Amino acid sequence: MPAEIATGVYRLATDYPHVCGLPLWLHVIDAGDELVLLDAGISSTPESTTGPELAELGLGLADLTLVVNSHAHPDHMGGNSVLKRLSQARLAAPATEAGWLEDNETLLKELWGSDPAALDLDPGEREELLQMLGERVRVDVLLRDGDLLPVADRPLRVITTSGHSPGHIAVLDERTRTLFAFDDVQGRGQPFLDGSVWLAPLYTDVERYTTGLRRLLELDFDALVPSHGDVLTADRGRQRIAQSLEWVSEVHEHTAALLRRRRSLTVRELAGSIGTELGDFGGLCLQTVRMARAHLELLAREGGAEPRWHHPR
Ligand SMILES: [Zn+2]
Repeated sequence: MPAEIATGVYRLATDYPHVCGLPLWLHVIDAGDELVLLDAGISSTPESTTGPELAELGLGLADLTLVVNSHAHPDHMGGNSVLKRLSQARLAAPATEAGWLEDNETLLKELWGSDPAALDLDPGEREELLQMLGERVRVDVLLRDGDLLPVADRPLRVITTSGHSPGHIAVLDERTRTLFAFDDVQGRGQPFLDGSVWLAPLYTDVERYTTGLRRLLELDFDALVPSHGDVLTADRGRQRIAQSLEWVSEVHEHTAALLRRRRSLTVRELAGSIGTELGDFGGLCLQTVRMARAHLELLAREGGAEPRWHHPR
């Protein structure tokens, strides 16, 4: 039975733990005449779990009137086309990420393909991602910072946090002071359910990530709700935001120290080092590669590094 985590806000289980080994929760909000689903899961989620979870509440997918994507990662938007097919719901998502949300190839190329020398998807991994992403559909409502979600009876405020992905948004339910932070408050990462390795934090721009985290600290909220973990009290939520900021400082110091020591550094080398020395992240992966690139870019902006390109030998 879905838990009511605040008045009129229900937490729905998903199939993601079985498919990818990580927790993932979706949330449905009763907004009077409207029924709002926050995030869509992967392509299999709506029919495998969201539908049955809503049935426990006496509802169905057809009752949804608005689906919101917090950002363009497969586990938050893969269910869009199925939800569109099975309901009349409009789709609302960050304006900045419409390009990724409406085109799988652009997303794969720009997110996973940023550093081919460090990370190259093999055909199997590519197929797996495309499977989770499903068919793309058009975004009906483009969301910008400060907007209210387009529902009349409940103020749900959009806050652009950016960082984790370029247009990532948080949503504040002003009535219950519940802050949906989705993937933006990542601490030092989190363990996979089988206890093998940890999933590293993911961000594509250091300053945008830290600015977004600080914006969340300024908000009045009673509970902080992450997509991949348990609901946190305001105190615990603030601690986790602080821990996320500390992590960024730690990686930046590590980057500067390693570059000083070695004199030259590739994204691949730095990502491998972050992925083994700063945490048990299994070395090279999307998260560590994007983090490495983000910190080297910041170091270059600060005058502490000079980017160079080499002819491959
Ligand atoms: Zn994400």
